[in-house]
Amino acid sequence: MKSFDVVIIGGGITGLSTAYYLNKMGVKNVLIIEKNYLGSGSTGRCGTGIRQQFTTKEHIVLMRESVKLWKEWENSLEHPIHFKQGGYIWLLRNNEELKQYKNYVKMQNLLGVPTQIISKEEIKEIVPEINTDDIVGASWCSTDGNAYPFEVIDALKFFVESKGTTIKTFEEVKNITLKNGLIQSVITDNDIYYTSFLVNGAGTGAKKTAKIIEIELPLENYRHQIVVSEPLEDFLNPMVVKGELYFTQTHRGRVIGGTDMNESPTDSISTSIDFLEKFATEVVKTIPQLSSIKIMRQWAGSYVVTPDHHPIIGPSEISNFILGCGYSGHGFMLGPIVGKLLASYIIDGKMFLPEADNLTIKRFKEGKLIQEKAVIG
Ligand SMILES: Cc1cc2nc3c(=O)[nH]c(=O)nc-3n(C[C@H](O)[C@H](O)[C@H](O)COP(=O)(O)OP(=O)(O)OC[C@H]3O[C@@H](n4cnc5c(N)ncnc54)[C@H](O)[C@@H]3O)c2cc1C
Repeated sequence: MKSFDVVIIGGGITGLSTAYYLNKMGVKNVLIIEKNYLGSGSTGRCGTGIRQQFTTKEHIVLMRESVKLWKEWENSLEHPIHFKQGGYIWLLRNNEELKQYKNYVKMQNLLGVPTQIISKEEIKEIVPEINTDDIVGASWCSTDGNAYPFEVIDALKFFVESKGTTIKTFEEVKNITLKNGLIQSVITDNDIYYTSFLVNGAGTGAKKTAKIIEIELPLENYRHQIVVSEPLEDFLNPMVVKGELYFTQTHRGRVIGGTDMNESPTDSISTSIDFLEKFATEVVKTIPQLSSIKIMRQWAGSYVVTPDHHPIIGPSEISNFILGCGYSGHGFMLGPIVGKLLASYIIDGKMFLPEADNLTIKRFKEGKLIQEKAVIG
């Protein structure tokens, strides 16, 4: 009989980060089950961005703490993850946005995030190429940044395997059994594994996975597309955001970014020409010099979205079934802190940040939703 202290469904940032912190905190007998290859879900398809510029206490505090952990990962993981604090420059298109973001900045500052409102002249000092004709200023946080998803996945994989975690790829969870109201085992297309705790880090598959044991998660999958360009000389340090548009430059010189197509929920991750047209138009309006760059690749992935655009983390109705899903488009950046919170919950029975307790599944039953207003892409 194969038995593990913790089984994790999903080999994305949630699964690997949770295994990382479990291993660090002394739990070594961990299994990650991934139906495809590691990073094949949203993690390997994401826009690399890591920011603290949010509009709720829960997101700001979690991201403030996550950035600290990103720094620790950058300094301690054996493989480079290319975490860089190049900042986020959030371009504001009119006085109404400016007023709104002044309030967000106040809240972020009170919670220890050093955001500031900057003028058009100051924007030019940070990115001289930005066209400031149709903007009134920006919200700027120099400690925001980005990291490289597949390098992060590789670095975590290397660490957790060296500590004893087992990783099964190309193996799919098909069923879950309960005994006395608790998770007893996980059945895949290949084997059966007994466990004391089961973590649902299955991304777009999280809703289906929970449904096996009759837990309803209020999640919808939305397609989001993204592109990368040919490599260019280094010119862009921060992530640039303008309305639904976002883009930055990778450590390999490629411009990476996306925009929102305002679509209905779907499981499709096909790509479309109209996305390319919209993205190109918005980017060139923002930095006219980018008009002649070549797009090398376009792909799509899913945002797994909750009704209040906050993740669902921590315990569920079944006390040994732990949730880490529904990030609504910003789960890569939350990966380190969510992994640490879930590991702490499994070991100590509590998440160590009070703000995290507001993000459990309970909030939907109790009608205590917390709306995030700064959602990009
Ligand atoms: C275009 C795009 C841009 C984005 N940009 C950003 C960004 O800039 N910053 C940011 O923070 N976030 C961004 N996101 C969101 C981010 O990618 C996700 O929130 C995050 O990667 C979620 O990680 P995860 O580990 O929870 O899920 P995933 O990475 O999706 O991993 C879940 C894994 O579970 C596996 N799985 C599912 N069902 C089963 C099963 N039954 N058995 C076994 N395995 C299973 C899947 O194959 C998958 O690999 C973006 C997303 C997209 C699509």
